[in-house]
Amino acid sequence: MHRLFLSEDCIAENTVAITGSLIHRLRNVLRLGAGDHIVVLDNSGWEYEVELRTTGRNRLEGVVTNKALAAGEPRTRITLYQALLKGSSFEMVLQKCTEIGVMSFVPMVCERCVAGEPTSNRLSRWGNIIVEAAQQSRRGKLPVLHSLVQFKEACEIGAGASILPWEGEGVRGVGDVLRSLPRAEDAPEISIFVGPEGGFSVGEVQYAQSWGITPVSLGKRILRAETAGLVAATVTLYEFGELDGSA
Ligand code: SAH
Repeated sequence: MHRLFLSEDCIAENTVAITGSLIHRLRNVLRLGAGDHIVVLDNSGWEYEVELRTTGRNRLEGVVTNKALAAGEPRTRITLYQALLKGSSFEMVLQKCTEIGVMSFVPMVCERCVAGEPTSNRLSRWGNIIVEAAQQSRRGKLPVLHSLVQFKEACEIGAGASILPWEGEGVRGVGDVLRSLPRAEDAPEISIFVGPEGGFSVGEVQYAQSWGITPVSLGKRILRAETAGLVAATVTLYEFGELDGSA
């Protein structure tokens, strides 16, 4: 069934009204009409099954036939602090990490960043990529895309247990560090810091450590910057039991 994030005000009691650019997609691309069912999400964690009733050129209306908590949200709240990357690599990070279950993204500027600051066009494309990936992967909430921060600022705001995958780390493996964290919390919070193509400088790694951020190894292979966040997020969700069918 097609899934769609809508703004809260589109859903009132048990009716849903869709206007604007989504109509073209539903009517002409997906060829949905009266009697068809879609799933609507309002970013609250709930999902609504909706039967379309009227499908006009400017307005689609439907009635809610079922309401349930979206199953796609992990309890573990991961924030990925990702250094800006060249070309479309940052988009790949947003797409793949939304699929796996990252809760929020913080783009950051690091010493060795070569990519420039994103334009407003690019930022809106990033937002669309997150929405599409969240719909496709059956998330119940849209991951939040925060505004750009400098690396030092990122270190100061990182919440929960914080790890920094670093290819120079020879002792601490990511699994050991994650397994050593306390497990009592209902919704553990983890911050993951990933560097740019050229990696973090030693000074940055030391600065992060001074803020209690732990450098960890992701193994002996050097991963591309756009791969490292996905791998670290995946291992984290696995260690917290979020990749089981029943989770
Ligand atoms: N230019 C560096 C590699 C940077 S890889 C070099 O050739 O040595 C980009 C980012 O991915 C790094 O900043 C780090 O956060 C992460 N990363 C890649 N491979 C890793 C590994 N084996 N262990 C931990 N982090 C890794």
